Amino acid sequence: MFLNKCDDLDIRQDCLADYWKASQPILATAAVLIQQANEFFLKGKIFEKDPAAIIVTSEKQEKLKKFSEYKTISASELLKTYKRVLKKEPNKEFIQLYYRKRNIRNTISHSIDDTLVINFQQEVKDIFIIHKSMVGPKLWASSRLKYLEELPETKLKFKNDDSLLYPRELILMEEFSLAIDMLGKDFSKEYLNFNPENESFYCPKCLGEIMRYYYYDSKLMDEGYPSLQKNTDNLLECYLCGHIVRTPLLVCQNCLKEGFDVQYKACLHCC
Ligand SMILES: [Zn+2]
Ligand SMILES: [Zn+2]
Repeated sequence: MFLNKCDDLDIRQDCLADYWKASQPILATAAVLIQQANEFFLKGKIFEKDPAAIIVTSEKQEKLKKFSEYKTISASELLKTYKRVLKKEPNKEFIQLYYRKRNIRNTISHSIDDTLVINFQQEVKDIFIIHKSMVGPKLWASSRLKYLEELPETKLKFKNDDSLLYPRELILMEEFSLAIDMLGKDFSKEYLNFNPENESFYCPKCLGEIMRYYYYDSKLMDEGYPSLQKNTDNLLECYLCGHIVRTPLLVCQNCLKEGFDVQYKACLHCC
């Protein structure tokens, strides 16, 4: 993110390769954790259907102590067990990704490979692919928002004064905009439900949340793409909060364009 704030393109390009080279240890840890999350997702789905299916068979017979003390099946059995218990397979893209990441995780955790390079873009793509496959489409923004709300500073430090926090909706908008620029149009359409080439507007619902904060400055909005865009049903939908403009838009008395959202009392063009 700090490189994106550097205006000099030459410096950015020079720094970029060095930056990612220096980031390899952090990216390797991230790659391992992403695979760990993959396994948690599979275990969770299996557990929802049949809790006993994730326990190693020989231990099922024993009178065991606490459930957390049972040994669970190894990662190599997860996909097979998922298929048996849920009577379906995860999609092909997820399965390919799962094996690819498993190899990388094993290399990092149990071996040394001087030629291994973890690509930041690929890791970000993988997170979106895993989330869509295991949680569902259009749910990344709400999951990310929940995560931001669970951060210790959100829960503790400012618990008595919400207005002191940096608006979570603004963090989301900045993060999504960086991801859209980095991952490109086709990936954004498929996984972020947003086409950066199409016309978009600021979402009055997200804007309402952001404007609650005492230091709100409209220039902050320049950091990201406006998040309201026509969806496949030709309705304006916010890719961050899911707000769909359902009421007919009125003519705005300020800019005289048709775009006034009656529900949120805001103009899509002026805000
Ligand atoms: Zn919104
Ligand atoms: Zn207007």
